[in-house]
Amino acid sequence: MVEAELSPAEIERYHRQILLREFGLEGQKKLKSAKVLVIGAGGLGSPLLLYLAGAGIGTIGIVDGDVVETINLHRQIIHSSNNLKINKAESARRLLQELNPEIKLEIYTQWLTGESSASIVPGYDIIVIATDNVESRYLISDLGVYYKKPVISGSALRWEGQLTVFSPSPCIRCLFPQPTPRHAWSKASDIGVLGPIPGVIGTLQAIETIKLILGLPVLSRKLLMYDGLSCQFKLFQLRDTSPTCPACSGQINPHTFNYAEFLGQIPAIPSIPDKEINCAELKRLIELKRVQIIDVRNSNHFNICHIENSIHIPIHDVENSSEIFSSNEPLVFVCKTGADSARAVEKVEARGIEASYLKGGLDAWKEAEPSFIIF
Ligand SMILES: [Zn+2]
Repeated sequence: MVEAELSPAEIERYHRQILLREFGLEGQKKLKSAKVLVIGAGGLGSPLLLYLAGAGIGTIGIVDGDVVETINLHRQIIHSSNNLKINKAESARRLLQELNPEIKLEIYTQWLTGESSASIVPGYDIIVIATDNVESRYLISDLGVYYKKPVISGSALRWEGQLTVFSPSPCIRCLFPQPTPRHAWSKASDIGVLGPIPGVIGTLQAIETIKLILGLPVLSRKLLMYDGLSCQFKLFQLRDTSPTCPACSGQINPHTFNYAEFLGQIPAIPSIPDKEINCAELKRLIELKRVQIIDVRNSNHFNICHIENSIHIPIHDVENSSEIFSSNEPLVFVCKTGADSARAVEKVEARGIEASYLKGGLDAWKEAEPSFIIF
């Protein structure tokens, strides 16, 4: 890193942090010379990018292929209602440039891929994971190992968040050689997230980034977990670099590795082809009044929207519910994607009850029935 000089305006802007014993003018110059790449301008990226820009990181790269939606705004506070349908990297750039015109912002309006990362990543010193996309998380960790760059990882769901630094080893593959089964992947769109939770974790990611640039010790080989409900932070020691890790032993080239195939090795969303019915078939049954629809999502999802006359039995109660026996009509289970409802069919079949489920779930129903609102 070549250290840059500071103008009087910059010294004024960063004065309060320059006063810190660990900072000084030298620390500020290090920040000005630093280049940080942030993958994701969402819930984690919002506070992270604002603090990095405010702190005077000289060059910030922002990668995001999504556009701003109303449903994002409770937590993605770098965006605004005026920027709906605008690419998130571009939307973030607008506010960051207003916050600090002294810094350089480089935006990438497509998601990072093995191919595109070759021309992006080498130009940065630090990579920050601010996306919950599983494929991206493995790719970014592999890129960190490949280019020997530290990776600051954060995630947030419901009331909980996690933080660690791959510097770059141990990496994500040292900890999780195989991705967790697909049904265990949780997303904010399915189970919800309180807005300030990614706010807390994104802010901590900004602190670790600044410390890395200053040369201070960071959260390496440790995992910090935050529980907003109990207001507790817990710190866990992580295992060392795995001797069998393919990334850390130089066997993974992230530019050629097939991430789709890697993730495809894990069990797919369950499907039982002879028990599926499609939207057209379900519509016909509804018109004939020859169906009992059972919605197995949780009660908040059900209360927000459901198909008329469907009854609500959450997936965990399906095994024990006696309501299922009382219907004389054919049973059709529905859920958001078709995965839980397929499991519900298996559960009732074990009790000798015939049932089918809506293929593609209510996401598919929304496509066929535009008046049905589901998020
Ligand atoms: Zn590793």
